[in-house]
Amino acid sequence: LQAAKENSTGPVQPQLYDGFSLAGRVGVVSGGNRGLGLEMALTLAEAGAKVYALDLPTTPGEEFRAVQKYIERFDTGAKLEYVGGGVDVTDQKLVWDAVAEIGNKEQRMDIGIAAAGILHGAPSLQYPADEFQKVMSVNVNGVLYTAQAVGQQMERFKTAGSLILIASMSGSITNKDHAWVAYNTSKSAVLQMARSLACELGPQAIRVNSLSPGYIYTSLTAAYLDTQPELYQKWAGLNPLGRLGRPDELRGVVAWLASDMSTFCTGSDILVSGGHHAW
Ligand code: NDP
Repeated sequence: LQAAKENSTGPVQPQLYDGFSLAGRVGVVSGGNRGLGLEMALTLAEAGAKVYALDLPTTPGEEFRAVQKYIERFDTGAKLEYVGGGVDVTDQKLVWDAVAEIGNKEQRMDIGIAAAGILHGAPSLQYPADEFQKVMSVNVNGVLYTAQAVGQQMERFKTAGSLILIASMSGSITNKDHAWVAYNTSKSAVLQMARSLACELGPQAIRVNSLSPGYIYTSLTAAYLDTQPELYQKWAGLNPLGRLGRPDELRGVVAWLASDMSTFCTGSDILVSGGHHAW
């Protein structure tokens, strides 16, 4: 109790903005080659972390896409690195080995973001078994393997790390226009995965939270929005702000969750959906 009293009154945090600094820290982002994962990788890099992006094997030349983007945006040196040849998150050994290699090289591990994800829609009663398996394999197994791999390195280096599992508002809400049974089910699983890991890893001071974005235009949603432009108004109308989000609107929450500014936050789901759930 005495310690709790001291903690609640003591000067725990540094200056507000210094508290967001990730200088000297090491982060891994799955699905960091594009979309929300890329934005999150860039956010960590901007805050000072050394970031490694794990992604599927790329076509020649593509592996430097994020690095170029960093230079374009901030006119400074590249801090993103790709794990050679790409890493398919559905391969547990590959993910563990790749992240262990990063640990060997950096001798620390602070942040893990599991952002790799896929979406495949089909009517539920006819949903093909192989597609269902594929969605689960990337969105559930892949998230667990990434969290395991990064968590193992946090445990190895005894870091009070932060794991951020990218779920979706689709993990807790849906609407009748979506035939996304596999996706929605997989995202629900991520919510409970984050809570389970948070309980288990809390004693080691490893925090685990899920982040649930609402609709944001990326290649994942482009598959719908580009082919059915009328969906834009429909989706935008589902939240009180009346629009889709932008990838950069997740930057603040990612920086917060990754940093020492959120040290008492674990086992939580942070919903960033333009208020979709409130409608
Ligand atoms: P994108 O399709 O733009 O990006 C997904 C990334 O994951 C790509 O870089 C892709 O690689 C990578 N990826 C896919 N499969 C694998 C795999 N097996 N191994 C490694 N990497 C893989 O999607 P978003 O950026 O929109 O989505 C990112 C996360 O955010 C997902 O988990 C998604 O479910 C979630 N989300 C997205 C929302 C949205 O509206 N966009 C809303 C809520 C949640 P490649 O480039 O090679 O295909």
